[in-house]
Amino acid sequence: LLNKVHDKDLVKTLGFINGEWVSASDGSTIPVDNPATGEVIANVACLKASDTKSAIAAASAAFPLWSSKTAKERSTVLRRWYDLVLAAQDDISTIMTVESGKPFAESKGEFTSGVASIEWFAEECRRVTGDILQTVHKDRRMLVVKQPVGVVAAITPWNFPMSMITRKVAPALAAGCTVILKPAESTPLTALALAELGHRAGIPNGVLNIIQGDAKAIGDTLIESDSVRKIGFTGSTRVGKLLFAGAADTVKRVSLELGGNAPFIVFDDADIDAAAAGVVTSAFRNAGQTCICANRVFVQDGIYDEFTKAVTEKVKKLKQGPGLDPSSTLGPLINTAAVERVQGHVDDAVAKGATVTVGGSKPDLPEPYNKGFFYAPTVLSNATIDMKIFREETFGPAMPLFRFHNDEEAIQLANNTEYGLAAYFFTKDLKRSWQVAERLEYGMVGVNEVAITSEVAPFGGIKHSGLGREHSKYGLDEFLYIKYIQMGIG
Ligand code: ADP
Repeated sequence: LLNKVHDKDLVKTLGFINGEWVSASDGSTIPVDNPATGEVIANVACLKASDTKSAIAAASAAFPLWSSKTAKERSTVLRRWYDLVLAAQDDISTIMTVESGKPFAESKGEFTSGVASIEWFAEECRRVTGDILQTVHKDRRMLVVKQPVGVVAAITPWNFPMSMITRKVAPALAAGCTVILKPAESTPLTALALAELGHRAGIPNGVLNIIQGDAKAIGDTLIESDSVRKIGFTGSTRVGKLLFAGAADTVKRVSLELGGNAPFIVFDDADIDAAAAGVVTSAFRNAGQTCICANRVFVQDGIYDEFTKAVTEKVKKLKQGPGLDPSSTLGPLINTAAVERVQGHVDDAVAKGATVTVGGSKPDLPEPYNKGFFYAPTVLSNATIDMKIFREETFGPAMPLFRFHNDEEAIQLANNTEYGLAAYFFTKDLKRSWQVAERLEYGMVGVNEVAITSEVAPFGGIKHSGLGREHSKYGLDEFLYIKYIQMGIG
């Protein structure tokens, strides 16, 4: 399938350290498969602790030069990277679909948002400024400057093989940091293609290094290193907490974008068709494998039956199949374990009284897709809070519908989780919109809208969903520290 990539030089299987493509120190590799069929599509170098140390050395050595370039110089390089990535849209989208399984149209959507991060930070790069304070001593002046934090380690997940990378690497490079990126072992190919384009764009050797491989060995080495001054992570809450604890020893800065358990509230005055379309888009995007997917849908009593019917009809129209087939609107999950987790949540819900209105099992697909990691899009009505699907992130195409009676109950239910990433609700009432948006304990709220991600808006969560914000005018600060300079002029 990788033969469909036109620029053959974008298909890379080695690690990228100090501007060179390198094998693992012990020569080992790991397979990358196509989730639509389970077939191996590439074997990539499986880098280890010693390779990680080489990458840290390269990033440390490159830091003085990169950080001392003018913002305009860095912006120019980022802009060139943006242009080259933009020109490779179809190839990168193909690689993404082949390794992650997502439908090609979704890969193109991710591409658009991923490349926008590079453009945005190429622009924001020029707008890092300090302050001159009103002095309290006539013979002294007080200034504030912002400086790059140093070597940054970025660890990214498989569900967005491109955009999770650009939203970390672009601001880090814009700020003047150098980067060691560890992509997810199941989707390293997109990251490696982006590195190749970065190299062509003139990102200097050592400024951007990619080390896929043994997650724990790489993670431990990055965490233990005193040279690494910041960790940017998107992934599970479990691993995020490990990294957060590990970062304490060397007092690294951390940004964590962890799990979500997004509520989606449909009030009885909502535009039912718009809410039904919105919830299906949100819950089934990337086969339910995004941290901001609607995970728990709360529907007000008076419209519950009508809404359930509307949603079920829309879900029946989803077309499940391989991502490269243009008619597919729903792809496979990432692996067998993911399929089993969804089935476990559905079985648990049914055992506790939920009704499957559509789906509820693995689909019946022809060869070779019967070997892929598919689960049929599923809607569960009569869901209740004692079910696993209320408490845990399903990360798959199963959508539970809970019933509520009034605003207070909806807010309580929505906030009844340790997570706090994204929340959505649909209503036409202005007062209700404001009141509910304020009371939802979440980092991001979509009101009558589900497509909330944008390079101009701050992305991130509260509670166990994480720390820090990506994108927006706030995103660069994550990679800068504040230095106060006092000058005696008396
Ligand atoms: P998911 O369940 O979505 O795969 P993970 O948190 O396991 O989420 O993975 C997100 C990223 O974290 C991946 O790049 C993965 O390889 C990496 N990772 C997993 N375990 C560790 C670890 N112990 N230390 C550092 N990174 C890790």
